[in-house]
Amino acid sequence: MDIKFLKGVGEKRAEAFNKIGIKSLDDFVNFIPRTYIKKISIREIPGNLSENILVNGEVIDVRHPRRDNQPTEITLYDKTGSVEIPVFGKSEFRSKQFRLKENFLFWIKAEKDVFSSGMKISYRDHFKLNEADAFDRDFLKYNLIPLYELSGILKKTWIRPLLLSKIVFNAFSTLIKSNPDYIEETLPENILTEYGLTGRKNAILRINFPAEHSDIETSRKRLAFEELFYLELILALKKKSLQKEKKGILFRRNTDELTGKFSKILPYELTTAQKRVINEIYGDMSSDKCMNRLLQGDVGSGKTVVALFSILLSKENGYQSAFMCPTEILAEQHYKTITEMMKPLDVNVTLLVGGQKKKLREEILAGIKTGKSDIIIGTHALIQEKVEFKNLGFVVIDEQHKFGVMQRAKLKEKGLNPDVLVMTATPIPRTLSMTYYGDLDVSVIDELPKNRKPVKTALRSEEDKYKIYSFVKSEIRKGRQVYIIYPIIDESEKLDLKSAEENYIKLKENIFREFRTGMVHGRMLWYEKDEVMEDFKNRKLDILVSTTVIEVGIDIPNATVMIIEEAQRFGLSQLHQLRGRVGRGADQSYCILIARNTGEDSAKRLKILCETSDGFRIAEADMEIRGPGEFFGIRQSGVLNFSCTDLSRDGKILEDARKVAFKIINEDMNLRKPENKIIRRTFLKDFKDSLYLMEVA
Ligand code: ADP
Ligand code: MG
Repeated sequence: MDIKFLKGVGEKRAEAFNKIGIKSLDDFVNFIPRTYIKKISIREIPGNLSENILVNGEVIDVRHPRRDNQPTEITLYDKTGSVEIPVFGKSEFRSKQFRLKENFLFWIKAEKDVFSSGMKISYRDHFKLNEADAFDRDFLKYNLIPLYELSGILKKTWIRPLLLSKIVFNAFSTLIKSNPDYIEETLPENILTEYGLTGRKNAILRINFPAEHSDIETSRKRLAFEELFYLELILALKKKSLQKEKKGILFRRNTDELTGKFSKILPYELTTAQKRVINEIYGDMSSDKCMNRLLQGDVGSGKTVVALFSILLSKENGYQSAFMCPTEILAEQHYKTITEMMKPLDVNVTLLVGGQKKKLREEILAGIKTGKSDIIIGTHALIQEKVEFKNLGFVVIDEQHKFGVMQRAKLKEKGLNPDVLVMTATPIPRTLSMTYYGDLDVSVIDELPKNRKPVKTALRSEEDKYKIYSFVKSEIRKGRQVYIIYPIIDESEKLDLKSAEENYIKLKENIFREFRTGMVHGRMLWYEKDEVMEDFKNRKLDILVSTTVIEVGIDIPNATVMIIEEAQRFGLSQLHQLRGRVGRGADQSYCILIARNTGEDSAKRLKILCETSDGFRIAEADMEIRGPGEFFGIRQSGVLNFSCTDLSRDGKILEDARKVAFKIINEDMNLRKPENKIIRRTFLKDFKDSLYLMEVA
């Protein structure tokens, strides 16, 4: 039914609705209230707390003021008492709206009046009701009325909040009256029973118009389950079809030639967590399943060496491995350390990055093609079309969160369906990894190598700067090195870069002129950056001023102090990452966050970093504050736009939904079993396109 025929709408309001994409009654079925407001009798109006409430009654008195800037006083009466409500606004509006003896619903705010012992009532919204009308009478039976987000254009139209609530109510009433089964079930009976979930129709009606308060959460949980169930179903399908599509390589573990030698020459003992994770990876590699595994481990937990053990197993079986890094600096660094570590094993390591000289590049490409190169380390240059591998068997993707899913897929296409290990140092809340990375298996290194001292972290303000600078000087005099970070969130922000450069000059030529200071930023060419980084690493510089290009992976143990300017502009996880650049040696390290104009929230947020070095705790807090989309910078992708789910508290629902979804797909991939009929229908109707969306997100 076209919305203009709905009671209470009409041509003019229908136009406003059309503008925000609401054309027919069905469009209301996906509405979820932002909040609810209680309807109470006038006698129950609280005398002491400040509260938004609804009251319903008859207007028994209307007093218009002499002057426009004074309110019209309405007296509203119900059987329990009466209340005076002052209404401001245009005088013509006020004089027309309220007539004696008519029935109104008022949204008011009641609070204690600071000037008298009485109570102050302020007006918010109102709505006229007609007791002769069946819909209106039904509406009044509810004591919790939903309020909807008046977002975007709707805000600019004159659709008032209570009017919208009433229209939604009319829409549901009309839909159900014309067809009681209008809202179809999307989950099979057996799932509903097993998880104690209410039916879909009930959930949708009750989340909008709860009969009692507990209906809200019961309904929300059911709808969240459904949301997560279908998401996980898609992920399960994706995983299953990947496995079916092509068999993976079966790496044999019978020689132990390189891996055994490697563990003997390692200068340290692997942590228990590292050993466990290597075993998990070897388990996958030695089956013909194609591995897709996410390795999570906090900064400094030693992921690289885990990757090397996997790469060596691949080499033992005669395969090449690729190691993809998000930045050139990082690729360079990995190249250097890995080359060093591989020397005694006689394994050939190659670096492929953008900007290499033509002749060198051709040599490198030839080495990759003929199979002379065993481990190829590089940036996204690795997935360019010109790069041909002889027999790519294993792929490591470092700092996965920096890459799109697309790039992951592209690299896979280059090989014989290689096993893939993606690594990330941004600990992801478990709930998120089950959704965003839901098609991957997950391994976690939850233990740092012994002998690590936590980085002392402090939150300071601009005024403390000179104290901080003198602390920096004293540390440098002890032989330590220092990072000073300026926020350039988007490297194309010219203004930010300019201010970072100006600050750099000031530090170099003025404040720290007795020391050696260098700078790197994202707009420098890779070899320019490299030169500066190299100088810093070789202690030719005491201070490295940098934008966030050093964020990931850089390993310089002698750097023990990190100053982060305008820390309030970074996300918590990003700060945690940055902080991971210090505290890598035996000496006590420090991280000083300088925050400017911080509000209370911002300070509270930053304090979390001072209190803990547990990356998972930080990630949870970060997600709670910024929401899952922001957290990954994937807000637009539409993958994690839930309407009922709150990932920060629905972990249990997610686990249940995932368990059932994966079980169903494992047992009945094509959803042919009779009990899965509802799922099949819903999937084909609403989610088929999502499969594709997930691929390209
Ligand atoms: P990340 O997980 O952040 O990538 P790295 O792999 O760069 O960490 O390791 C950080 C540092 O810890 C490296 O210098 C590495 O040699 C060292 N390391 C790795 N594993 C161990 C261990 N088990 N014991 C001691 N040091 C280790
Ligand atoms: Mg690393």
